[in-house]
Amino acid sequence: MTRPALPVFISGWGRTPRIHASGYEVELPEEILPLFQQETGDFIVHAMGRSYGDSSLSRNVVLTRRLNAILSFDPDTGIAVCESGVSLSDLIDVFLPRGWFLSVTPGTKFITVGGAIASDVHGKNHHKAGCFSTSVIGMDVLVPSGQIITCSPQTHRDLFLATCGGMGLTGVILSATLQLQPVQSAFIDQEIIKCRNLSETIDAFSQYHLLAYSVAWIDCLSQGKEMGRSLLMVGEHAQSGRLRLPEIRSHSIPFDVPGICLNPYSVSLFNALYYAKTRRRHISNTVSLNTFFYPLDAILQWNRMYGKNGFTQYQMVLPLESSHAGLKAILTRIARSGMGSFLAVLKLFGPANENYLSFPLKGFTLALDFKMASRLLPFLDELDRIVLDHAGRIYLSKDVRMKPETFQKSYPGLEKFREIRRHYGATTRFNSLQSRRLEI
Ligand SMILES: Cc1cc2nc3c(=O)[nH]c(=O)nc-3n(C[C@H](O)[C@H](O)[C@H](O)COP(=O)(O)OP(=O)(O)OC[C@H]3O[C@@H](n4cnc5c(N)ncnc54)[C@H](O)[C@@H]3O)c2cc1C
Repeated sequence: MTRPALPVFISGWGRTPRIHASGYEVELPEEILPLFQQETGDFIVHAMGRSYGDSSLSRNVVLTRRLNAILSFDPDTGIAVCESGVSLSDLIDVFLPRGWFLSVTPGTKFITVGGAIASDVHGKNHHKAGCFSTSVIGMDVLVPSGQIITCSPQTHRDLFLATCGGMGLTGVILSATLQLQPVQSAFIDQEIIKCRNLSETIDAFSQYHLLAYSVAWIDCLSQGKEMGRSLLMVGEHAQSGRLRLPEIRSHSIPFDVPGICLNPYSVSLFNALYYAKTRRRHISNTVSLNTFFYPLDAILQWNRMYGKNGFTQYQMVLPLESSHAGLKAILTRIARSGMGSFLAVLKLFGPANENYLSFPLKGFTLALDFKMASRLLPFLDELDRIVLDHAGRIYLSKDVRMKPETFQKSYPGLEKFREIRRHYGATTRFNSLQSRRLEI
Protein backbone atom coordinates (compact mmCIF):
# COMPACT_ATOMS: atom_id res chain seq x y z
CA MET A 1 0.00 0.00 0.00
CA THR A 2 1.32 3.44 -0.84
CA ARG A 3 0.40 6.49 1.10
CA PRO A 4 -1.39 9.28 -0.74
CA ALA A 5 0.69 12.20 -1.96
CA LEU A 6 0.98 15.16 0.39
CA PRO A 7 1.03 18.58 -1.23
CA VAL A 8 4.31 20.08 -0.02
CA PHE A 9 5.89 23.51 -0.43
CA ILE A 10 9.61 22.91 -0.29
CA SER A 11 13.02 24.43 -0.88
CA GLY A 12 16.65 23.74 -0.14
CA TRP A 13 18.47 25.51 2.70
CA GLY A 14 18.95 28.66 0.61
CA ARG A 15 15.11 29.00 0.45
CA THR A 16 15.11 29.65 -3.27
CA PRO A 17 13.49 28.33 -5.38
CA ARG A 18 10.46 27.26 -3.34
CA ILE A 19 8.18 24.87 -5.17
CA HIS A 20 4.92 23.02 -4.79
CA ALA A 21 5.40 19.27 -5.18
CA SER A 22 3.76 15.94 -4.43
CA GLY A 23 5.47 14.51 -1.37
CA TYR A 24 5.51 10.79 -0.59
CA GLU A 25 6.47 10.06 2.96
CA VAL A 26 7.93 6.58 3.37
CA GLU A 27 8.52 4.59 6.50
CA LEU A 28 9.38 1.22 4.98
CA PRO A 29 11.58 0.46 1.97
CA GLU A 30 8.78 -1.56 0.33
CA GLU A 31 6.58 1.54 0.13
CA ILE A 32 8.86 3.15 -2.44
CA LEU A 33 8.67 0.94 -5.53
CA PRO A 34 4.85 1.15 -5.92
CA LEU A 35 5.24 4.93 -6.16
CA PHE A 36 7.30 4.63 -9.30
CA GLN A 37 4.80 2.18 -10.75
CA GLN A 38 1.78 4.33 -10.01
CA GLU A 39 3.09 7.85 -10.71
CA THR A 40 4.61 9.30 -13.84
CA GLY A 41 7.14 12.11 -14.01
CA ASP A 42 10.35 12.93 -12.22
CA PHE A 43 11.17 11.73 -8.72
CA ILE A 44 13.94 12.73 -6.36
CA VAL A 45 14.57 12.18 -2.66
CA HIS A 46 14.08 15.19 -0.41
CA ALA A 47 15.59 14.31 2.95
CA MET A 48 16.40 17.12 5.41
CA GLY A 49 16.69 19.75 2.70
CA ARG A 50 20.11 20.96 3.87
CA SER A 51 21.51 21.06 0.36
CA TYR A 52 21.31 24.73 -0.51
CA GLY A 53 19.89 24.77 -4.01
CA ASP A 54 17.60 22.67 -6.19
CA SER A 55 19.16 19.21 -6.00
CA SER A 56 16.43 17.79 -3.74
CA LEU A 57 13.52 19.41 -5.60
CA SER A 58 11.32 17.82 -8.21
CA ARG A 59 7.68 17.43 -9.17
CA ASN A 60 7.50 14.28 -7.01
CA VAL A 61 9.63 13.95 -3.91
CA VAL A 62 10.27 10.89 -1.76
CA LEU A 63 10.43 12.05 1.86
CA THR A 64 12.81 9.72 3.69
CA ARG A 65 12.99 11.20 7.18
CA ARG A 66 10.88 8.37 8.63
CA LEU A 67 13.03 5.71 7.06
CA ASN A 68 15.16 6.06 10.14
CA ALA A 69 15.90 2.80 11.89
CA ILE A 70 19.35 1.92 13.18
CA LEU A 71 19.55 -1.72 12.15
CA SER A 72 22.68 -3.04 13.86
CA PHE A 73 25.91 -2.05 15.56
CA ASP A 74 29.08 -3.90 16.41
CA PRO A 75 30.68 -2.27 19.47
CA ASP A 76 34.01 -4.03 18.80
CA THR A 77 34.49 -2.65 15.29
CA GLY A 78 32.32 0.50 15.28
CA ILE A 79 30.39 -0.70 12.23
CA ALA A 80 26.80 0.55 12.16
CA VAL A 81 24.04 -0.33 9.72
CA CYS A 82 21.20 2.15 9.39
CA GLU A 83 18.42 3.27 7.11
CA SER A 84 19.13 6.27 4.94
CA GLY A 85 16.80 8.70 6.73
CA VAL A 86 18.75 8.46 9.99
CA SER A 87 20.35 11.82 10.71
CA LEU A 88 23.96 12.37 11.68
CA SER A 89 22.59 13.95 14.84
CA ASP A 90 20.79 10.65 15.69
CA LEU A 91 24.03 8.71 15.11
CA ILE A 92 25.97 11.03 17.41
CA ASP A 93 23.32 10.81 20.14
CA VAL A 94 23.38 7.02 20.05
CA PHE A 95 27.05 6.25 19.46
CA LEU A 96 29.10 9.05 21.01
CA PRO A 97 28.31 7.92 24.58
CA ARG A 98 29.71 4.50 23.53
CA GLY A 99 32.95 6.06 22.27
CA TRP A 100 32.23 6.25 18.52
CA PHE A 101 31.93 9.29 16.27
CA LEU A 102 31.44 9.90 12.53
CA SER A 103 34.58 9.38 10.45
CA VAL A 104 33.64 12.40 8.31
CA THR A 105 31.16 15.11 9.21
CA PRO A 106 30.05 18.27 7.41
CA GLY A 107 29.36 21.59 9.17
CA THR A 108 25.84 20.57 10.24
CA LYS A 109 24.63 17.37 11.88
CA PHE A 110 21.08 17.97 10.68
CA ILE A 111 21.48 15.94 7.51
CA THR A 112 20.62 12.32 6.76
CA VAL A 113 22.94 9.45 5.95
CA GLY A 114 21.33 9.31 2.47
CA GLY A 115 22.07 13.01 1.94
CA ALA A 116 25.64 12.57 3.18
CA ILE A 117 26.23 9.79 0.64
CA ALA A 118 24.40 11.45 -2.26
CA SER A 119 26.46 14.65 -1.84
CA ASP A 120 29.54 12.66 -0.76
CA VAL A 121 30.00 15.35 1.86
CA HIS A 122 33.38 16.46 3.14
CA GLY A 123 34.41 17.78 6.51
CA LYS A 124 37.31 19.61 8.09
CA ASN A 125 39.42 16.45 7.77
CA HIS A 126 39.23 15.89 4.02
CA HIS A 127 43.02 16.29 3.72
CA LYS A 128 43.41 13.26 6.04
CA ALA A 129 40.21 11.22 5.71
CA GLY A 130 38.59 11.99 2.35
CA CYS A 131 34.84 12.23 1.82
CA PHE A 132 31.93 10.57 3.62
CA SER A 133 32.03 7.70 1.11
CA THR A 134 35.34 6.51 2.59
CA SER A 135 33.35 5.47 5.64
CA VAL A 136 30.65 3.69 3.61
CA ILE A 137 31.37 -0.03 3.62
CA GLY A 138 28.33 -0.74 1.48
CA MET A 139 24.75 0.31 0.82
CA ASP A 140 21.44 -0.88 -0.59
CA VAL A 141 20.12 1.13 -3.52
CA LEU A 142 16.65 0.77 -5.02
CA VAL A 143 16.94 1.26 -8.78
CA PRO A 144 13.98 1.95 -11.12
CA SER A 145 13.58 -1.70 -12.19
CA GLY A 146 12.58 -2.44 -8.60
CA GLN A 147 15.78 -4.31 -7.83
CA ILE A 148 17.53 -3.55 -4.56
CA ILE A 149 21.24 -3.66 -5.31
CA THR A 150 23.81 -4.02 -2.57
CA CYS A 151 26.84 -2.10 -3.77
CA SER A 152 30.23 -1.38 -2.26
CA PRO A 153 33.74 -0.52 -3.44
CA GLN A 154 34.05 -4.23 -4.33
CA THR A 155 30.54 -5.27 -5.48
CA HIS A 156 28.56 -3.43 -8.18
CA ARG A 157 31.38 -0.93 -7.93
CA ASP A 158 30.06 1.25 -10.78
CA LEU A 159 26.78 1.84 -8.99
CA PHE A 160 28.68 2.63 -5.78
CA LEU A 161 30.92 5.16 -7.55
CA ALA A 162 27.93 6.78 -9.22
CA THR A 163 25.73 6.89 -6.11
CA CYS A 164 28.36 8.44 -3.80
CA GLY A 165 28.18 12.07 -4.91
CA GLY A 166 25.45 11.24 -7.44
CA MET A 167 22.86 13.64 -5.96
CA GLY A 168 20.12 11.02 -5.80
CA LEU A 169 20.17 10.47 -9.56
CA THR A 170 20.87 6.73 -9.57
CA GLY A 171 18.05 5.57 -7.30
CA VAL A 172 16.99 5.64 -3.67
CA ILE A 173 19.61 4.75 -1.07
CA LEU A 174 17.71 2.59 1.40
CA SER A 175 20.36 1.76 3.97
CA ALA A 176 24.11 1.94 4.52
CA THR A 177 26.84 0.22 6.48
CA LEU A 178 29.13 2.81 8.03
CA GLN A 179 32.51 2.67 9.72
CA LEU A 180 32.58 5.00 12.73
CA GLN A 181 35.81 6.20 14.33
CA PRO A 182 36.70 5.56 17.99
CA VAL A 183 37.00 8.66 20.21
CA GLN A 184 37.97 9.11 23.84
CA SER A 185 35.86 12.18 24.55
CA ALA A 186 33.22 14.57 23.24
CA PHE A 187 35.80 17.35 22.95
CA ILE A 188 38.37 18.73 20.53
CA ASP A 189 41.71 20.24 21.48
CA GLN A 190 41.67 23.31 19.29
CA GLU A 191 44.22 25.92 18.25
CA ILE A 192 43.28 29.19 16.61
CA ILE A 193 45.91 30.88 14.50
CA LYS A 194 45.47 34.45 13.33
CA CYS A 195 46.80 34.89 9.79
CA ARG A 196 47.43 38.37 8.38
CA ASN A 197 46.88 37.63 4.67
CA LEU A 198 46.26 34.91 2.10
CA SER A 199 49.87 33.72 1.92
CA GLU A 200 50.02 33.31 5.69
CA THR A 201 46.69 31.48 5.62
CA ILE A 202 47.83 29.01 2.96
CA ASP A 203 51.19 28.48 4.70
CA ALA A 204 49.45 27.87 8.03
CA PHE A 205 47.25 25.15 6.48
CA SER A 206 50.34 23.32 5.27
CA GLN A 207 52.15 23.85 8.59
CA TYR A 208 49.29 22.16 10.47
CA HIS A 209 48.39 19.57 7.83
CA LEU A 210 49.27 16.65 10.12
CA LEU A 211 46.47 17.56 12.52
CA ALA A 212 43.11 15.85 11.93
CA TYR A 213 40.97 18.92 11.35
CA SER A 214 41.45 22.37 9.87
CA VAL A 215 39.23 25.18 8.63
CA ALA A 216 39.69 28.93 8.21
CA TRP A 217 37.23 31.77 8.41
CA ILE A 218 38.30 34.40 5.88
CA ASP A 219 37.54 38.10 5.92
CA CYS A 220 36.50 38.23 2.27
CA LEU A 221 36.27 42.02 2.15
CA SER A 222 39.79 42.90 3.36
CA GLN A 223 41.99 44.21 0.59
CA GLY A 224 45.59 45.11 -0.23
CA LYS A 225 48.19 43.65 2.13
CA GLU A 226 45.45 42.22 4.33
CA MET A 227 43.60 40.38 1.59
CA GLY A 228 42.73 36.86 2.74
CA ARG A 229 43.36 37.52 6.44
CA SER A 230 41.79 34.78 8.48
CA LEU A 231 41.40 32.80 11.65
CA LEU A 232 42.57 29.24 11.07
CA MET A 233 41.09 26.68 13.46
CA VAL A 234 42.85 23.33 13.73
CA GLY A 235 42.18 20.47 16.09
CA GLU A 236 42.42 16.86 17.21
CA HIS A 237 40.05 14.74 19.28
CA ALA A 238 40.86 15.27 22.96
CA GLN A 239 42.30 12.15 24.58
CA SER A 240 40.35 12.48 27.79
CA GLY A 241 37.11 13.99 29.05
CA ARG A 242 33.45 13.04 29.09
CA LEU A 243 31.79 11.24 26.22
CA ARG A 244 28.63 13.28 26.69
CA LEU A 245 28.12 16.55 24.89
CA PRO A 246 27.33 19.56 27.06
CA GLU A 247 23.71 20.71 26.77
CA ILE A 248 23.36 23.50 24.24
CA ARG A 249 20.66 26.08 24.32
CA SER A 250 19.65 26.62 20.73
CA HIS A 251 18.23 29.89 19.53
CA SER A 252 16.03 30.46 16.57
CA ILE A 253 15.54 33.25 14.06
CA PRO A 254 11.75 33.58 14.29
CA PHE A 255 11.14 35.69 11.18
CA ASP A 256 12.72 36.71 7.86
CA VAL A 257 15.26 39.41 8.60
CA PRO A 258 14.59 42.43 6.36
CA GLY A 259 17.01 42.33 3.43
CA ILE A 260 18.28 45.84 4.16
CA CYS A 261 19.99 44.65 7.37
CA LEU A 262 22.54 42.75 5.30
CA ASN A 263 24.54 45.15 3.21
CA PRO A 264 28.20 45.75 2.36
CA TYR A 265 28.63 47.96 5.45
CA SER A 266 27.17 45.51 7.95
CA VAL A 267 29.14 42.62 6.42
CA SER A 268 32.36 44.61 6.44
CA LEU A 269 31.80 45.67 10.06
CA PHE A 270 31.01 42.11 11.11
CA ASN A 271 34.17 40.81 9.42
CA ALA A 272 36.40 43.47 11.00
CA LEU A 273 34.95 42.84 14.48
CA TYR A 274 35.18 39.07 14.15
CA TYR A 275 38.82 39.26 13.13
CA ALA A 276 39.69 41.78 15.87
CA LYS A 277 37.92 39.69 18.54
CA THR A 278 40.83 37.25 18.54
CA ARG A 279 43.61 39.44 19.84
CA ARG A 280 46.42 36.97 20.25
CA ARG A 281 48.18 35.40 17.32
CA HIS A 282 47.74 31.91 18.72
CA ILE A 283 45.13 30.50 21.11
CA SER A 284 44.77 26.95 22.45
CA ASN A 285 41.60 25.69 24.08
CA THR A 286 39.32 22.69 24.35
CA VAL A 287 35.82 22.88 22.89
CA SER A 288 32.95 20.44 22.49
CA LEU A 289 32.37 18.61 19.22
CA ASN A 290 29.24 20.74 18.75
CA THR A 291 31.20 23.98 19.04
CA PHE A 292 33.99 22.80 16.77
CA PHE A 293 31.97 21.10 14.04
CA TYR A 294 28.49 22.59 14.18
CA PRO A 295 28.60 26.22 15.35
CA LEU A 296 25.71 27.20 13.07
CA ASP A 297 23.43 24.43 14.36
CA ALA A 298 23.05 26.42 17.60
CA ILE A 299 20.89 28.92 15.69
CA LEU A 300 17.88 27.10 14.29
CA GLN A 301 16.58 28.44 10.99
CA TRP A 302 19.57 30.76 10.63
CA ASN A 303 18.82 30.74 6.91
CA ARG A 304 16.11 33.31 7.64
CA MET A 305 18.83 35.83 8.33
CA TYR A 306 19.11 36.44 4.59
CA GLY A 307 15.57 37.66 4.23
CA LYS A 308 12.60 36.34 2.31
CA ASN A 309 14.34 36.16 -1.07
CA GLY A 310 16.78 33.61 0.29
CA PHE A 311 20.47 33.16 -0.40
CA THR A 312 22.94 30.85 -2.04
CA GLN A 313 26.24 29.39 -1.05
CA TYR A 314 28.92 29.55 -3.71
CA GLN A 315 31.47 26.82 -3.05
CA MET A 316 34.32 26.16 -5.41
CA VAL A 317 37.53 24.15 -5.28
CA LEU A 318 40.79 25.00 -7.02
CA PRO A 319 43.73 22.65 -7.57
CA LEU A 320 46.69 23.23 -5.24
CA GLU A 321 48.91 24.68 -8.01
CA SER A 322 46.40 27.36 -8.96
CA SER A 323 44.83 27.93 -5.52
CA HIS A 324 46.81 30.98 -4.50
CA ALA A 325 46.35 32.84 -7.80
CA GLY A 326 42.71 31.77 -8.15
CA LEU A 327 41.74 32.70 -4.59
CA LYS A 328 43.45 36.05 -5.00
CA ALA A 329 41.50 36.72 -8.21
CA ILE A 330 38.22 35.71 -6.56
CA LEU A 331 38.78 37.72 -3.38
CA THR A 332 39.79 40.77 -5.43
CA ARG A 333 36.61 40.47 -7.48
CA ILE A 334 34.43 40.11 -4.36
CA ALA A 335 36.05 43.04 -2.58
CA ARG A 336 35.55 45.21 -5.68
CA SER A 337 31.93 44.19 -6.06
CA GLY A 338 31.08 45.08 -2.46
CA MET A 339 29.04 41.88 -2.29
CA GLY A 340 30.43 40.58 0.96
CA SER A 341 29.68 37.31 2.62
CA PHE A 342 29.37 36.78 6.40
CA LEU A 343 30.41 33.25 5.96
CA ALA A 344 33.60 32.72 3.98
CA VAL A 345 35.16 29.42 4.83
CA LEU A 346 38.37 27.96 3.43
CA LYS A 347 39.35 24.29 3.71
CA LEU A 348 42.19 22.14 2.44
CA PHE A 349 41.24 19.05 0.43
CA GLY A 350 43.31 15.92 -0.02
CA PRO A 351 43.31 13.92 -3.27
CA ALA A 352 40.11 13.40 -5.29
CA ASN A 353 38.42 10.01 -5.07
CA GLU A 354 37.11 7.90 -7.95
CA ASN A 355 33.40 8.68 -7.53
CA TYR A 356 32.15 10.11 -10.80
CA LEU A 357 30.61 13.31 -9.48
CA SER A 358 32.28 13.86 -6.10
CA PHE A 359 33.31 17.46 -5.70
CA PRO A 360 36.69 17.52 -3.92
CA LEU A 361 40.04 17.62 -5.66
CA LYS A 362 43.43 18.23 -4.08
CA GLY A 363 43.58 21.93 -3.32
CA PHE A 364 41.66 24.64 -1.51
CA THR A 365 37.91 25.05 -1.33
CA LEU A 366 36.24 28.35 -0.53
CA ALA A 367 32.55 28.65 0.43
CA LEU A 368 30.77 31.99 0.44
CA ASP A 369 27.17 32.86 1.34
CA PHE A 370 25.47 35.54 -0.74
CA LYS A 371 22.04 37.05 -0.27
CA MET A 372 19.91 36.63 -3.42
CA ALA A 373 19.81 39.81 -5.47
CA SER A 374 19.33 40.57 -9.15
CA ARG A 375 22.96 41.52 -9.72
CA LEU A 376 24.20 38.40 -7.96
CA LEU A 377 23.69 35.95 -10.83
CA PRO A 378 25.87 37.71 -13.45
CA PHE A 379 28.44 38.29 -10.73
CA LEU A 380 28.57 34.56 -9.92
CA ASP A 381 28.92 33.79 -13.64
CA GLU A 382 32.05 35.94 -13.55
CA LEU A 383 33.36 33.98 -10.59
CA ASP A 384 32.65 30.77 -12.54
CA ARG A 385 34.93 31.98 -15.30
CA ILE A 386 37.74 32.56 -12.81
CA VAL A 387 37.15 29.10 -11.36
CA LEU A 388 37.26 27.46 -14.81
CA ASP A 389 40.37 29.45 -15.78
CA HIS A 390 42.06 27.94 -12.74
CA ALA A 391 40.85 24.39 -13.46
CA GLY A 392 38.44 24.33 -10.54
CA ARG A 393 34.80 23.40 -10.07
CA ILE A 394 31.60 24.23 -8.18
CA TYR A 395 29.93 22.02 -5.54
CA LEU A 396 26.59 20.58 -6.73
CA SER A 397 25.24 20.38 -3.22
CA LYS A 398 25.32 24.15 -2.86
CA ASP A 399 24.53 25.10 -6.44
CA VAL A 400 21.30 26.64 -7.68
CA ARG A 401 22.39 28.61 -10.76
CA MET A 402 25.41 27.11 -12.50
CA LYS A 403 25.21 26.87 -16.30
CA PRO A 404 25.37 23.41 -17.94
CA GLU A 405 28.55 24.34 -19.87
CA THR A 406 30.37 25.22 -16.64
CA PHE A 407 29.33 21.96 -15.04
CA GLN A 408 30.15 19.82 -18.06
CA LYS A 409 33.61 21.35 -18.46
CA SER A 410 34.59 20.77 -14.88
CA TYR A 411 33.32 17.27 -14.03
CA PRO A 412 35.31 14.78 -16.14
CA GLY A 413 33.43 11.79 -14.68
CA LEU A 414 30.12 13.00 -16.16
CA GLU A 415 30.06 10.71 -19.21
CA LYS A 416 30.69 7.64 -17.10
CA PHE A 417 28.01 8.81 -14.67
CA ARG A 418 25.49 9.19 -17.50
CA GLU A 419 26.33 5.71 -18.74
CA ILE A 420 25.58 4.19 -15.32
CA ARG A 421 22.36 6.16 -15.07
CA ARG A 422 21.28 4.83 -18.47
CA HIS A 423 22.27 1.30 -17.53
CA TYR A 424 19.97 1.34 -14.49
CA GLY A 425 17.14 3.14 -16.28
CA ALA A 426 17.45 6.11 -13.94
CA THR A 427 17.46 8.90 -16.54
CA THR A 428 13.71 8.84 -17.04
CA ARG A 429 12.80 8.37 -13.36
CA PHE A 430 15.24 10.24 -11.14
CA ASN A 431 15.61 13.90 -11.95
CA SER A 432 15.81 17.03 -9.88
CA LEU A 433 15.40 20.63 -10.96
CA GLN A 434 19.18 20.74 -10.80
CA SER A 435 19.76 17.69 -13.00
CA ARG A 436 17.34 19.11 -15.59
CA ARG A 437 19.04 22.52 -15.49
CA LEU A 438 22.52 21.03 -15.80
CA GLU A 439 21.41 18.46 -18.38
CA ILE A 440 22.87 15.62 -16.36
C1 LIG B 1 24.94 24.72 7.81
C2 LIG B 1 25.35 23.76 6.74
C3 LIG B 1 26.66 23.34 6.70
C4 LIG B 1 27.07 22.44 5.70
N1 LIG B 1 28.37 22.05 5.70
C5 LIG B 1 28.79 21.19 4.76
C6 LIG B 1 30.13 20.74 4.76
O1 LIG B 1 30.95 21.14 5.59
N2 LIG B 1 30.50 19.86 3.80
C7 LIG B 1 29.61 19.38 2.87
O2 LIG B 1 30.02 18.57 2.03
N3 LIG B 1 28.32 19.79 2.85
C8 LIG B 1 27.91 20.67 3.78
N4 LIG B 1 26.60 21.08 3.78
C9 LIG B 1 25.68 20.52 2.76
C10 LIG B 1 24.96 19.26 3.26
O3 LIG B 1 25.80 18.48 4.05
C11 LIG B 1 24.55 18.42 2.05
O4 LIG B 1 23.82 19.21 1.16
C12 LIG B 1 23.72 17.17 2.39
O5 LIG B 1 23.56 16.41 1.23
C13 LIG B 1 22.33 17.51 2.92
O6 LIG B 1 21.70 16.30 3.31
P1 LIG B 1 20.13 16.18 3.50
O7 LIG B 1 19.89 14.93 4.27
O8 LIG B 1 19.59 17.45 4.06
O9 LIG B 1 19.65 15.93 2.02
P2 LIG B 1 18.81 16.86 0.97
O10 LIG B 1 19.34 18.24 1.03
O11 LIG B 1 17.38 16.65 1.24
O12 LIG B 1 19.26 16.17 -0.36
C14 LIG B 1 20.56 16.37 -0.87
C15 LIG B 1 20.78 15.42 -2.06
O13 LIG B 1 20.84 14.08 -1.58
C16 LIG B 1 19.88 13.28 -2.26
N5 LIG B 1 19.42 12.26 -1.29
C17 LIG B 1 19.10 12.45 0.01
N6 LIG B 1 18.73 11.27 0.55
C18 LIG B 1 18.82 10.32 -0.42
C19 LIG B 1 18.55 8.93 -0.47
N7 LIG B 1 18.10 8.23 0.57
N8 LIG B 1 18.75 8.30 -1.66
C20 LIG B 1 19.19 8.97 -2.76
N9 LIG B 1 19.44 10.29 -2.75
C21 LIG B 1 19.27 10.96 -1.61
C22 LIG B 1 18.80 14.26 -2.67
O14 LIG B 1 18.03 13.75 -3.75
C23 LIG B 1 19.63 15.47 -3.07
O15 LIG B 1 20.16 15.31 -4.35
C24 LIG B 1 26.14 21.97 4.75
C25 LIG B 1 24.80 22.40 4.78
C26 LIG B 1 24.41 23.29 5.77
C27 LIG B 1 22.98 23.75 5.80
